[in-house]
This record gives sequence, structure tokens and C-alpha cells, in this order.
Amino acid sequence: MTNKEYKKYNSFNEIQFKKKINKEDLILKIQSNLNYENNNDLSDYQKSILERVKKDLFKQKTKEKFVLSNHVFNEINQINEKDILKYLFHRYRYEVFPKNFEKDDYPPFLQIEPSSICNYRCVFCFETDETFTNKKNGHMGVMPLELFKEIIDQAENNIQFISIASRGEPFVNKEIPKMLEYTRGKFLSLKINTNASLLDEKKIHAILSGGVTTIVFSADAADPELYAKLRVNGKLEKVLKNIEMFNKIKEKKYKGSKIISRVSGVKVGENQKIEDMHNLWGQLVDQVAFVNYNPWENVYDKEESKIKLPCSDLWRRMFVWWDGKINPCDTDYKSILSASNFKDTSLRDAWNSQKYNDYRDKHINNNRSKIYPCKNCVLV
Ligand code: SF4
Repeated sequence: MTNKEYKKYNSFNEIQFKKKINKEDLILKIQSNLNYENNNDLSDYQKSILERVKKDLFKQKTKEKFVLSNHVFNEINQINEKDILKYLFHRYRYEVFPKNFEKDDYPPFLQIEPSSICNYRCVFCFETDETFTNKKNGHMGVMPLELFKEIIDQAENNIQFISIASRGEPFVNKEIPKMLEYTRGKFLSLKINTNASLLDEKKIHAILSGGVTTIVFSADAADPELYAKLRVNGKLEKVLKNIEMFNKIKEKKYKGSKIISRVSGVKVGENQKIEDMHNLWGQLVDQVAFVNYNPWENVYDKEESKIKLPCSDLWRRMFVWWDGKINPCDTDYKSILSASNFKDTSLRDAWNSQKYNDYRDKHINNNRSKIYPCKNCVLV
């Protein structure tokens, strides 16, 4: 029997926004920016992608491969008008390339992991796997600042969508204020995810003064009991206090900040209601969302999924973990698929390496069953 696929690129289950933005105005701005005929700053390649953007958004409605969802409108609203074309170019690569199994020199999205260590043990997370968290097995650690800086230097001007998070809690890394400072003004979309339990004034200043464009607070419930049940080791009260502190500092010292704040939860059961989430968190942040549960469990031990469709992650994103290891996904959280280490290669070479391309070929040619653990995985 074939298992049900999990569509990675459609992982928002629900999302609600505090403020309505004027989409009509933004569409007009986008349209006028797409009249770039006399813009000599664009390369032929960029123009060829922007032509496709134009077609999908404004001309050939039949295909509709590239659509702007509400949270994307919010991101466009946040950036300077002069950056709209750059944003659309990179957004198109992020959204459409994985659907077409198409790639160029760099991954559309890069996830950098400051720490694989977490102070929580959420029920839906691979941090509950002791073969992963046991220090003896070599998976636990924090990224040195210098390594982080080298990754950022290579990503700057080549990749615009960055996430400073992966397997652990980023704020476990004591260097995170300096890391965030180093990203200032470098990327159009830079997200950091945190369970918010370790925030303090210094870290909040670092978020607000660094390069972060979206701060995602991970929380899945509005009720302290349910919260503690899902986010094991976590206390809702503490998290609420920290987010209130974030808002106070933002209000007082960073009035003009355009940072987007989002509470994002993992939907694991019917007892988690978006209305409850919205009632509590909606007062505190700009967006409240549920993402679908990513069925990571026992990808190493479970039976073959028999899924034939290719996995979109191979064309969408790449991970660099705390020790420099480069991996195509975090479902394989023990990095069996890792083909290289950033210390011995470059982001560009890793993305275009023989091994990575071999994974892609196998996925496209109905042979993901020849790769472990892809053969057990349900992600597409
Ligand atoms: S294990 Fe393979 S199929 Fe699953 S997410 Fe990773 S790359 Fe994709």
C-alpha cells in the first residue's frame, strides 16, 4: 500500500492576519515595476524569470503556477519598492522551481542552524529521539560565529530567503546576537524561529536591530495545559511574558520597525483550534498560523512509503548545520544524505554537486526507493 504524501510546499494549514493590507495598491506597484524594459541593472537571466512572473501573474491565467498568497503580499508590503523585482525573481525561484524540478546556481532558500540543541522536547519533534539528542552520537552542538559569518558572506546577493533555524532552538547559541547583527540589511526575507522561552532584553534588541524580517514564535496552543503537553519543558506563562517584553521594546525603541511577528503552531490534533489561538496570540503578533504536522517519525525505521513523486526539498532549499554539514532536508535529521561539509566546499558547489544531482535524478526517474531514507519518507 502507498502512504499518503505530505505536500511540503503547502504546509500552512491556516493563517490569520491582524492587519489588512491594501493588496490592490501592491498589485499596481508590482505591475508598474514589471515594466522594466529600460532597466539596465537586470541580467538577461533575471529578465527571463521576470517574464515568467509577468505571464503567470498577469497574462496566462490558465497555468497559475506562481500566485502571491497573503503572507507573500505581507512580505512585499514590508520591502522597499526598489527591491520588488529582486523579491519577485527570488520568490518565483522558491515557488515554481521545485514544481518544475528546475534549478540554477544557488538554492532558493537556505536554512542555517545556530544550534541543534533544544531546551524543549515537543511531542512532534525529532528532539524526542534519544539517538539524536544523546551527545555521544555527535549530533548535538552550536555553530561558531566565524562559520556563520562565512556562510552569510557566500549567501549575500545570491540567496534572498534565509531561515536562521533548523533542528534546535537558535537562542541556545550564545553568539546569536552577534550573528543577527551580521545579517543586518543583507537579505530581503530573513526568518528566525524560536520557542521564545530563552528571550531576554539583549536578544530582543538583537532581533530588532539585526537583519530579521520575520520572527516566528513557535506555539501550538492557547491553553497552558495543552501547551505544556505538546511543548514538553515549556511554560506558556513564560513565553507570553517574553513576547510581551518583545512588543514593549519594539514599541519603545524600534517604532519604525517593519518586522513581521508570527505565532506558528504545529497542528497535531483537533483540540487545537485556530480561533483559540487567534484570541490569545492575535493580540500579541501580526500573524497566527498552524502548519501541518510533518510526519518525521522513524523515517529511518519505518516501512517503505512506496511514494514515487519527487521531493520538492531537493529543488527548494538546503541546510547548513551547526558543524558545517550540508543536508537536503531536516526529515533526515541524522544527515544520512549529507553529501558535503561547508568547511570543504561552497554553497554553490554543494547545491550542484554530483551526489545532490544524483538524488534529484533518482527522484525524477521514479527511483527514490533507491535512496535511504527517502524511500521511507512521505514528503513530496
Ligand atoms: S528524506 Fe528524502 S524525500 Fe524525505 S524530505 Fe528528505 S530529501 Fe525529501
